[in-house]
Amino acid sequence: MLSFAIPPPVLGFSLVGPIFLAAIAAAAGGLFMQRAYLLLQLVRMGKPANRFDDLPKRVEMEGTVVLGQRKLLQRLGPGLMHAFIFWGFVILLTTIVEAIGEIFTRTFAIPLVGRTAWLGLIQDIFAILVLIGVEMAVFIRKVQRPERFKGSHLEEADFILLMIMGIIVTLLGLNATRISLGINESPASWTPLSTLISKAFNVMPHGTVSTFESVFLWAHVVLIFGFLAYIPHSKHLHIFASEPNVFFTKTKPRGKLEKLDIDMEKLEQGDVRLGAAHVDDLTWKEILDTYSCTECGRCQNVCPAWSTGKPLSPKLLIMNLRDQVFDEGPAIVKARQTGVLQRLLLASPKEMLSRVFRRASGDGEPDRTPLNPNVVEDEVIWDCVTCGACMQECPVNIEHVDHIVDLTESLGGSPSPARRLGGGTGGARPGGRPGARVPLLGGLRWVLR
Ligand code: SF4
Ligand code: SF4
Repeated sequence: MLSFAIPPPVLGFSLVGPIFLAAIAAAAGGLFMQRAYLLLQLVRMGKPANRFDDLPKRVEMEGTVVLGQRKLLQRLGPGLMHAFIFWGFVILLTTIVEAIGEIFTRTFAIPLVGRTAWLGLIQDIFAILVLIGVEMAVFIRKVQRPERFKGSHLEEADFILLMIMGIIVTLLGLNATRISLGINESPASWTPLSTLISKAFNVMPHGTVSTFESVFLWAHVVLIFGFLAYIPHSKHLHIFASEPNVFFTKTKPRGKLEKLDIDMEKLEQGDVRLGAAHVDDLTWKEILDTYSCTECGRCQNVCPAWSTGKPLSPKLLIMNLRDQVFDEGPAIVKARQTGVLQRLLLASPKEMLSRVFRRASGDGEPDRTPLNPNVVEDEVIWDCVTCGACMQECPVNIEHVDHIVDLTESLGGSPSPARRLGGGTGGARPGGRPGARVPLLGGLRWVLR
């Protein structure tokens, strides 16, 4: 809608376009930054977790799991669908730079690589691949309708696919009209799809094509900034969160739990909280996990508990925890910031400095809802056999078992580790239902002092 209100860019320099661009960028950038700040504060709310070791391994995971799409490509159809969209997203970042530059001057080209035939060719190829990927996604979701999507936010995913499609269609329209006007950046012979579409515009008067070019340009730019502002507010913020989440994956063997160094004296006095009883007991990585879920249901598909009709779905577990982070997290963060500010104002300069670098915690925090049973029911927790199939399958390296073990540890509300371990027998689970798992790897996990 906005695009029709904007005068078309003219040859030479006009201030109208840049001013309008600045207004859109400020609005979208403001919304993005405001949300990004909250997301960061919510992550900071979490308990500590050391995920900064073994840097080479982390870089390798980023290269294989994120850039190489290794886990997704284990299943060729859905894997290629996602890879086309993801790789296209990366390659077509160059077209965003070009579109913004063209608002300043119609003859804009990226320094060094702009106007090269190869750049035009790969942009054209990836535009086609993204469109193919979107169509495959629509086919999988609307025609195949796999069971793994049960419980996912499908309407929102549809809307995002529609936005991606809009971005690509306006990009191709922009390229085609520019070819028709003779102001194309890359040689037309190297952009076959855009050249093919340009034939539809060749029959139109020059002025009409020029108007179309402006409409495509502004629609493209508005969609891109709209996408930037919308995604962090949606349930699909994995588009931005999954890359860091993969980077911060545990580098140790998947089944190995973090050791808990427990001071028994403090534990008996109630100064130590074990496991995840409330949302702010999750570690920062666990909170990042919840942002990163794509709701693809691959974990649910392979979960032996879900497959045998039990209520545990690792996907729904992560989604429910994410909802809880957003429901209660902002109030906790706000209360902590107020508490920290008050204490900072009363603190000495040395104390002040040390508090700035410490994880925030505050007095007078709001009441929190117990995660169990309000967010995750007992059955869901105890049905997990900690096999790790969900983690093996998850394309964004979410660590479900860590969540479930932390939830398990908080069960019972007793300060006694033995009681938390199901009566200390090492084998039974509360309720004594058949099919019980051995609750935790107690000997590996607990270090009691
Ligand atoms: S670890 Fe638990 S949640 Fe994950 S697949 Fe195995 S049983 Fe399901
Ligand atoms: S946890 Fe991982 S595998 Fe499961 S739905 Fe989310 S992204 Fe997909």
